[in-house]
Amino acid sequence: MHYDLIVIGSGPGGYFCAIRAAQLGMKVAVVEKERTFGGTCLNIGCIPSKALLHASELYDQAGHLFDRMGIKLGKPRLDLPGMMKFKDAGVDGNVKGVAFLFRKNKIESFEGIGRIAGNGVVEVTSAGKTERLEANAIVIATGSDVARLPGIEIDERRIVSSTGALVLDRVPERLLVIGAGVIGLELGSVWRRLGSEVVVVEFLDRILPGMDNEVCRQFHRLLEKQGMTFRLSSKVAGVAAVDGALQATVAPANGGATQAIGADVVLVAVGRVPYTEGLGLKAAGVNKDNKGRIVVDARFATNVSGIYAIGDVIAGPMLAHKAEEEGIACVERMAGVPGHVNYACIPNVVYTHPELASVGLSEEDARERGIEVRVGTFPFQANGRAKALGEREGQVKLVADAATDRLLGAHIVGARASDMIAELVVAMELGASAEDIARSVHAHPTLPEAVKEAALGVAGRAIHI
Ligand SMILES: Cc1cc2nc3c(=O)[nH]c(=O)nc-3n(C[C@H](O)[C@H](O)[C@H](O)COP(=O)(O)OP(=O)(O)OC[C@H]3O[C@@H](n4cnc5c(N)ncnc54)[C@H](O)[C@@H]3O)c2cc1C
Repeated sequence: MHYDLIVIGSGPGGYFCAIRAAQLGMKVAVVEKERTFGGTCLNIGCIPSKALLHASELYDQAGHLFDRMGIKLGKPRLDLPGMMKFKDAGVDGNVKGVAFLFRKNKIESFEGIGRIAGNGVVEVTSAGKTERLEANAIVIATGSDVARLPGIEIDERRIVSSTGALVLDRVPERLLVIGAGVIGLELGSVWRRLGSEVVVVEFLDRILPGMDNEVCRQFHRLLEKQGMTFRLSSKVAGVAAVDGALQATVAPANGGATQAIGADVVLVAVGRVPYTEGLGLKAAGVNKDNKGRIVVDARFATNVSGIYAIGDVIAGPMLAHKAEEEGIACVERMAGVPGHVNYACIPNVVYTHPELASVGLSEEDARERGIEVRVGTFPFQANGRAKALGEREGQVKLVADAATDRLLGAHIVGARASDMIAELVVAMELGASAEDIARSVHAHPTLPEAVKEAALGVAGRAIHI
């Protein structure tokens, strides 16, 4: 069986890549080792976590906020299996959607582990049987796996990764989260809303490293106000089973006296690592870097002719939309169409409540690069719609080049920040200035008016503060 392109992996990187290749007239095959398409994102990542975040947020609001809005429901009761069913229905709809799109685009799919077995050859092994496929080009889109901590064995029941934390069959009384990155904060929020006491242990002295300091500090305070406890500059040295529960040994990051923290479930959320097991990369001669990521050039080509790689398995932020854009750009370049990914404009979102969304440079990043900046901030407290919704927490912060006024970065903590960041991504893509945003008419009353006000604030002329 000969194809123009074989894609190994059907996550957001792989399936976008396959569909765009088919649109460009290529004969495409996709190899996927799992029973459903969609990879980490659709099966055990973005989609199930957002379903649980949404359902748990409504549960939380029903318990606290509805009463203040004059809605009397009584104390809400949790039907955890029902909530899990709601989550599973969201996953099911998405993975079936990818299967439909493959059929629609005449993409052939093969279930099994794909291994590169020579120049343009992929062998697919499933249930002891091996099939041989051939192609002019191969794209590796095998994604990532959970990063583990030495000495802390994940059993996905009591010591869980994000995968286990999405399917817990009861609400743990005490949840210890190792890692204050996006996944730890999102899943920690889910279980806190459902009733867990949540302690987050983070090695660094701040949450969400890499994101704008000021905005993160405010976000941190808001999460604490909701009842999450943080142990920063601390590390978990080990987790032991004691009297039917777990006990984590927590030590200061730079050494010192340890402390025991009890927990019913421990969530290990210390990041993800590229996944290349079983691919036969060594035999194929494909280079990896010291972090296990496949090395590619600007066209996503590896050092071996005809083999490309995209998504979590290469360098860059491990985000679904980054993988998608790379998948598209990779085949467009193969087909001689001018595809590209603008790495300076990749949004990053934490889907808690309030949400945190950012794109581009933080204020510190810009200053570190020696760029003189002007900053405009606007609190949701002063936004009309936010007051009407009772969503007054958070702010918009814009970072602009002091010399040219060009927008360099945007950081939002607040309700629906994930939707609001899109305007700023487009603005940055188009090279907009803060003044461009300030002079664009924003519908009233909307939360994005806070974006316009922050842009006005860059020039010191916000109206409502
Ligand atoms: C809990 C969680 C929440 C997340 N939330 C978000 C979010 O809200 N937004 C966001 O942008 N990102 C989120 N992410 C990250 C996102 O899921 C990844 O960045 C994205 O899935 C990467 O896409 P990919 O196509 O590179 O790889 P993956 O989605 O990991 O897909 C790789 C696929 O390759 C298959 N595969 C691997 N090896 C082989 C082989 N040898 N043969 C055949 N098949 C193989 C795997 O089975 C898998 O299906 C989240 C991740 C997690 C874990």
